[in-house]
Amino acid sequence: MYSKNQLVTVTIEDISDTGEGIGHIDGFTLFVSRAVPGDTVQARILKAKKTYAFAKTEEILTPSPSRTEPLCPLAGSCGGCQLSYMTYEAQLALKQKKVEDCVRRIGGFADVPVLPIIGMDDPRGYRNKGQFPVGTIRRPGQDSAAEPVLGFYAGRSHRIVSAKSCPMLWDGHEKILSAVREYLEESGVKPYDEETGKGLVRHVLMRKGFATGEILVCMVINGPTLPKANLLWKKLSEIPGVVSLSININTENTNVILGAKTKTLFGPGAITDRIGDVTFSISPASFYQVNPVQMKILYDTALSYAGLTGNEVVWDLYCGIGTISLFLTRHAKRVYGVEIVPDAVADARANAQANRIENASFYEGAAEEVVPRLIAEDPSVKPDVVVVDPPRKGCEKSLLTTILAMEPARIVYVSCDPATLARDLRILTDGGYRVERVQPVDQFPGSVHVESVALLSSGK
Ligand code: SAH
Repeated sequence: MYSKNQLVTVTIEDISDTGEGIGHIDGFTLFVSRAVPGDTVQARILKAKKTYAFAKTEEILTPSPSRTEPLCPLAGSCGGCQLSYMTYEAQLALKQKKVEDCVRRIGGFADVPVLPIIGMDDPRGYRNKGQFPVGTIRRPGQDSAAEPVLGFYAGRSHRIVSAKSCPMLWDGHEKILSAVREYLEESGVKPYDEETGKGLVRHVLMRKGFATGEILVCMVINGPTLPKANLLWKKLSEIPGVVSLSININTENTNVILGAKTKTLFGPGAITDRIGDVTFSISPASFYQVNPVQMKILYDTALSYAGLTGNEVVWDLYCGIGTISLFLTRHAKRVYGVEIVPDAVADARANAQANRIENASFYEGAAEEVVPRLIAEDPSVKPDVVVVDPPRKGCEKSLLTTILAMEPARIVYVSCDPATLARDLRILTDGGYRVERVQPVDQFPGSVHVESVALLSSGK
């Protein structure tokens, strides 16, 4: 049994989803902050339970070959990059192993090839979107003089760590943060306080189209209007690339960042970006991949797996603003996209129109409800190829059953969680499909997340 403040020596074997090094002493599990697999550290126990404890690294006794100096001064306190202390090569190896383990253990596939992960040449400055929480720091005994703080959430908590910039975002984004900071100071507009539900500004969201250079800023606020918005716009519009300022209204007591309503205050309310030769309009609330370089690789992989000759009917389920769908239209007879968020469907239709793409149609609703209905109404829409790109929880079982019943020649599964991917691949395999291969792609250097594309064929 271990107790708080006790010092222990432990060798780190693995890393948790929140980035703590995992080690064992006599069957007892330790989660050690700032430690990476291969390190032997002296750690101080912070919180002990019966079979496990949380600890922090006090001294590195033998450093792991995977260990590196973090890129960021906030490493270890910001919850964003869990793998800051690992070399990029070690991060890639870890993600490769994670996908392989899921495919082998959860999916039960001994022989399915998991191809080597595709990483980035430069794993920095890749993000086209930042979301910075705004709050207050209360110094003890100075309740009335609470200071605004703008930054990132610390790991496992809602404490905001002040940040002036993030090495994962594009160069120049820090000017937007300073403009918002100045605006808060000069306008007297108050940050939101999660505890009391009072105050106005909750988050600053920023997005850039890397191919066009256009930038949009959206202030997420706890009320209907942003006072002195002109002052903020004056500062923002001087920053190269900034084309628009929006507000999003979120008055709920919730962890969800965006509320239901977005209003454009200045500019077009969206940015444009290009993937291949298709132009996309992206509004603040739409889902859009955050890493444009790796997104292109992911979509090119999906396209090659789809094996299109120009004659196929393709279904793109969980299509968001139609990025994959429209990318595929050039190579298919017809593409049908299905998406649950109404704004995203509207964006997808507008994007099709703006690109004069006439062989794509978009349907709003849950894929598991829309697909069976459409097939029952019109059997001619039966797909040759189905692409799915679900959120982390994976596909609804009923949707997988429907896909099996439609008997497409190929299924391309784009996944942001290898565990649910492996589970769903097993269901599709039990339904008669064969998994040809799985290609991991690193969309999120620094974080524990990994994206994969899998190809299944009917064998018929
Ligand atoms: N393929 C898109 C978006 C993938 S993200 C792209 O690459 O950009 C997953 C999308 O699934 C989100 O847009 C989300 O709104 C949508 N979604 C979640 N549950 C859904 C469901 N049951 N049916 C259809 N779409 C759903």
